[in-house]
Amino acid sequence: MSKRTSREIFTGNFTQQEPIPESAISAAVEVMQSGRLHRYNVAPGELGEAALLEQEFASLTGADYCLAVASGGYAMGCALRALGVEPGDKVLTNAFTLAPVPGAIASVGAVPVFVGVTEGLVIDLEDLEAKAGQADVLMLSHMRGHICDMDALMAICDANDVKVIEDCAHTMGGGWKGVPSGRHGVMACYSTQTYKHVNSGEGGFLISNDEEAMARAIILSGSYMLYERHAAAPSSEVFERVKYHTPNVSGRMDNLRAAILRPQLQALPQQVVAWNERHDAVLNGVRGTPGLHVVERPDGEDYVGSSIQFLLLDWTEENIAEVLHRCGERGVELKWFGGAEPVAFTSRYDSWRYAPSQPMPKTDRILKGVLDMRIPLTFSVADCELLARIIRAEVGAVYQAA
Ligand SMILES: *Cc1c(COP(=O)(O)O)cnc(C)c1O
Repeated sequence: MSKRTSREIFTGNFTQQEPIPESAISAAVEVMQSGRLHRYNVAPGELGEAALLEQEFASLTGADYCLAVASGGYAMGCALRALGVEPGDKVLTNAFTLAPVPGAIASVGAVPVFVGVTEGLVIDLEDLEAKAGQADVLMLSHMRGHICDMDALMAICDANDVKVIEDCAHTMGGGWKGVPSGRHGVMACYSTQTYKHVNSGEGGFLISNDEEAMARAIILSGSYMLYERHAAAPSSEVFERVKYHTPNVSGRMDNLRAAILRPQLQALPQQVVAWNERHDAVLNGVRGTPGLHVVERPDGEDYVGSSIQFLLLDWTEENIAEVLHRCGERGVELKWFGGAEPVAFTSRYDSWRYAPSQPMPKTDRILKGVLDMRIPLTFSVADCELLARIIRAEVGAVYQAA
């Protein structure tokens, strides 16, 4: 009994983000006082908050052009359209990702071709090479912030004339060998939704160095003929070439969200350091637990540890469920990507029944063992050490009993 009552319990909230910084709140209040919330509603000579935000995000990533939009999912659909993906086209994408990724492909009437996942939780480059001939575009999801060998991936895609769109929803602020995540592909998409790396409730970015694709994306997003009010954008003559052929599929960002985001972008580098301290505290705390396989970070990867994954490879479903249950009882919220039924934000490629898929046994083995934990910055490093102690104890107990 005494052992039970002295058990450590975690009481933090896994979905509680930090407050919006005061500087962002005052910037938001100023926009509201001005009444000019729509991005094209600017005073003469004024660059609105949305245009300024785009300039700042372009400069943060080193991209020539940036477009702020209504969501990360919108950014992905817009990128596919801007690259000319049409109904019925196939688009390569990760089998291990979240529902908005195949959803964006389906939103343009295209059909996902799923590529497997490795034990390092990145796209399986062998499988990619085998399937690269089937499509002209890869929607590459850096799922849960794991970045594959981008040089090897780009070599495969270049050799097969596959254009890469990067889904950087989990890698904003990260990179591969010093190149910011999102700068390898022809376009990259980011989310500014509450659970990502900056928080405007909803929102997203698209970046590119391809002038024609970006001009199309800006018109697609709903610029009408007001595209000259953009700053991180191609010249007017590029728009002249595409403006009569590009539909308006409204999905703009407004000045209010942009105002909330600008100070957060400035703080992103410090936030990344804070996330990684917490991520590494969990990783170091659970490393070496019998039966538990940690995902080590490769040398070239500049990761952002806003969540952590580990694998219970080849465990029975009952024992994994037992670990989830025991951790849950001690306040540790783990998500399981392997469950047959989609739950909360987790789902599997075979749960997206609108998208045909072949069985992928190697991938299934990994998905069946992936556990995931969010790391909000409202947790302290000490909290993360406690989380690791609980996971270590409960995984160990179930493993020993098995
Ligand atoms: C959140 C997320 C998106 C979509 O972002 P929204 O802004 O919510 O539309 C895309 N891909 C991944 C992997 C995500 O986690």
